[in-house]
Amino acid sequence: MDELIEKAARIIIESKLTIALTGAGISVESGIPDFRSKGGLWDRFDPEEYATIYAFKDSPEKVWQMLKEMEQIVDKARPNEAHAGLAELEGMGLLESVLTQNIDNLHQEAGSRNVIEYHGNSRTFTCIWCNKKYDYKDKKGEYPPKCECGKILKPDVIFFGEAIPPLAMARSSQLASTCQALLIIGTSAVVSPFNILPRQAKQAGSKIIEINLERTVLTENITDIFLQGKASEQVSQLVSAVKDLKEV
Ligand code: NAD
Ligand code: ZN
Repeated sequence: MDELIEKAARIIIESKLTIALTGAGISVESGIPDFRSKGGLWDRFDPEEYATIYAFKDSPEKVWQMLKEMEQIVDKARPNEAHAGLAELEGMGLLESVLTQNIDNLHQEAGSRNVIEYHGNSRTFTCIWCNKKYDYKDKKGEYPPKCECGKILKPDVIFFGEAIPPLAMARSSQLASTCQALLIIGTSAVVSPFNILPRQAKQAGSKIIEINLERTVLTENITDIFLQGKASEQVSQLVSAVKDLKEV
């Protein structure tokens, strides 16, 4: 067994409260590009121009050009082994919650039950004018989708300029400040205020296990164990190691 994986597995087994923080990188192998990928969605649609609440209110038709492509990408995506591994850890009673920045619903599809969505979810829509809610399936193929009041619907993702859902924020902060182990997977950890959580955990004495293809701002400063590589491979190895060590 790889030495670092073994160390990480022991931390998870010994911890009384473990949480996972995930970002776009965990869904890259499911076919959803992250912010950095060349030729990806964000190369063609500048988030400053297409992902602000002001842009949506001003010209929802234009923003739906981006949302339509995003919806088609998310529609095709299926959870990968990293999502499945976290669901398995939760099932074994070794992971309290997943706190995700992703809006793709893949943690829930993989079987995770306690998922806190920091940036909302793209699979439900709300009319910001009359507050009526819809499931995306009710509006499938309709671009832009409209409310029965005639206005264009907004997916329940948090646009730049919108507040993080207060309950998600409060619960995340509570978990981060009381956990004993924190797994942070596939996030560049630069988007605020999500990036406060790993620091909060570290200050509270938690061990930090980071999984990423590349080093990040966290790696030098707060990470205890850095598992470099693809999320699917690293999480699978970690879950196997946890199972092996628990059996001994
Ligand atoms: P980011 O794009 O800033 O960073 C992604 C990180 O994942 C990078 O550090 C990269 O090295 C790493 N990575 C890429 N592929 C990986 C792999 N296969 N295995 C392990 N690591 C890998 O993403 P972020 O930090 O989540 O912030 C971007 C923002 O964009 C978030 O707010 C998020 O809500 C949003 N977003 C969401 C999705 C989604 O829902 N799937 C996709 C794109 C962007
Ligand atoms: Zn309406």
